[in-house]
Amino acid sequence: MPVGTVASVKGVSQDILEDLGVQILLGNTYHLYLRPGVEQVRKLGGLHKFMSWPRAILTDSGGFQVFSLNELRKVTEDGVTFRSHLDGSSHVFTPESAMAAQIGLGADIIMAFDECTEHPADHARMRQSMELTLRWAERSKKYFEEHKHEVPWAPQNEQEKQIPRSARNDKSYSISGSTPGGPISEGAKQSLFGIVQGGMDLALRKESAERTIEIGFPGYAIGGLSVGEPRALTREVVESTIQHLPADKPRYLMGVGTPEEIVEYAKLGIDMMDCVLPTRAARHGLLFTSEGKISIKQARYIGDKGPLDPKCGCKVCARYSRAYLRHLYASNEVLAQVLNTVHNLSFYLDTMRAVRHSIALG
Ligand SMILES: [Zn+2]
Repeated sequence: MPVGTVASVKGVSQDILEDLGVQILLGNTYHLYLRPGVEQVRKLGGLHKFMSWPRAILTDSGGFQVFSLNELRKVTEDGVTFRSHLDGSSHVFTPESAMAAQIGLGADIIMAFDECTEHPADHARMRQSMELTLRWAERSKKYFEEHKHEVPWAPQNEQEKQIPRSARNDKSYSISGSTPGGPISEGAKQSLFGIVQGGMDLALRKESAERTIEIGFPGYAIGGLSVGEPRALTREVVESTIQHLPADKPRYLMGVGTPEEIVEYAKLGIDMMDCVLPTRAARHGLLFTSEGKISIKQARYIGDKGPLDPKCGCKVCARYSRAYLRHLYASNEVLAQVLNTVHNLSFYLDTMRAVRHSIALG
């Protein structure tokens, strides 16, 4: 899932994302709540209509951004008080208000409100944080069940209930024949996923997974990773935790990773991942290729007539030379960010297409 933080994948328009084959993208509740505001998006018909994106969207609960952008946050049983990074104003997220925000934004998949445990943390702190996340998961689900009909694209009648949101909004989506995403009625609703926490403690991760499953969600995420721990530890926690999550429901690893890592995690059984890396790195001139990572700003590319990646089928590699991309970057042209992002997203999506192909071949 490419990351579209404020309802925009930075530098790339929605028609290009469609051409690249993006099926789902991620929006950040924290950012959209602060600007333009949930009520504004809701009045405009929800995120899909607002940003003209008929395909699937997932929003996070806002918990991670509050954790990563707010050093002055205050966590209580009820929720989190934090200050806006835009104007310093004070706000509160509770499981209930985070659900209300995500229902109002109207993504297809929304996330339970959790506390992302900091790293390092001692055992008592990891347990206390995990218990809080479990209580918040129950409150998230309760509020969601009572209010899910308030989603901006809620079906208006019995007939519409049978048609997934994506089919009602996306003209390219075929209702008959090969319908991606399983039985049609499944898609008519917003889905709330649970999040497993437990810090870096494998026993707590197991307990968190089991108790989150007891609460019951249509999909499960592994949260609280990529918070500064070494990569080997991330992998160990994922490998251990995923064994406790049902294989017949989507398993989502939040906030990873490099192209090598996403292949590795897919091998472990992860179905969904999101990361700012392909888009953020692109804006800094770091490009992922079949020959490894390239820093296009380097002087060695000044006269390089070759394509960025000879094995890549994207429109950037088909048309432009490394020399031209290097020149655009050195000249600080907006086009450099656009073209670099298109290539990196294409490389990531190709990586996942190859993963799916391998799975199909057994
Ligand atoms: Zn390319």
